[in-house]
Amino acid sequence: MSSPKVYVAGKLYEKSEAKVSVFDHGLLYGDGVFEGIRAYNGRVFRLVRHVDRLFDSARAIHLKIPMSPGGMARAIVDTLAANGLVDAYIRVVVTRGSGSLGLDPRKTTDPQVIVITDAIALYPAELYDHGLKIITAGTMRNHPAALNPRVKSLNYLNNIMAKIEATNAGCLEALMLNARGEVAECTGDNIFVVKRGVVSTPSVESGILEGITREAVIELARARGLEVRERPLDRHDVYTADECFLTGTAAEVIPVVMCDGRALGDGAPGPISRDLRSRFHELVRSEPQDPIPPV
Ligand code: PMP
Repeated sequence: MSSPKVYVAGKLYEKSEAKVSVFDHGLLYGDGVFEGIRAYNGRVFRLVRHVDRLFDSARAIHLKIPMSPGGMARAIVDTLAANGLVDAYIRVVVTRGSGSLGLDPRKTTDPQVIVITDAIALYPAELYDHGLKIITAGTMRNHPAALNPRVKSLNYLNNIMAKIEATNAGCLEALMLNARGEVAECTGDNIFVVKRGVVSTPSVESGILEGITREAVIELARARGLEVRERPLDRHDVYTADECFLTGTAAEVIPVVMCDGRALGDGAPGPISRDLRSRFHELVRSEPQDPIPPV
């Protein structure tokens, strides 16, 4: 296979040649936004939702993306095609651009649009069969009044701090609470619990990223007649859940069988988690790609 090509500001570069300035505020201050997207069978899953979320994130930090949503969708699809990938993970990054040292975004000139496509690196396959163990991180999720978790910004240190706690505890994911001590989400995934057949997940008011996988799983659960509640959850709801699972573009739907050393339910992936996982699989493999909006 030829070497990977990376899209940077309108052109494709060899991986080793794909670069941005060290004066880019994306590097200096984490000033920028990003998206994580997947393609299945050559079709980008929920392309328009991801592009919309990227533009919303950018708008929220007062960053003008130097192309239209249609142009962005086209850049994503073209980069995927240039790399000959059909099943892939796609990372889109928009930086504030390079400028002088100093926070003021007005001192920057050239926001960089980057599209990286890669083979998918996932949790080990056996975890989908046996379930994940997580811990609650001491690091709380960003307060929405500080940096709203709805913004998928390049400032992921909050989640990285929690991820370090997880790995130090021998886990792959950590549960993050909000400033009220309620369950928010995990470092890179949304969380769901199932109790007596009812599926619950924190709502946006709990301070979460509005995950696109979360949205798809809510639709799937409702379509099969399950009640889904978006409501505040606390750790009691997790510890006493019959089932628990996480959703995310990279992880898809992954069961959680232990939290803070406590077995959840009977300590094995439950039937609703397994069913929603397989329905999600079917969905991503059958849903047509969104038409590309006008450029
Ligand atoms: N929460 C956080 C903090 C994330 O980084 C992600 C991954 N983008 C998610 C939730 C899941 O979102 P999605 O399903 O859109 O990938």
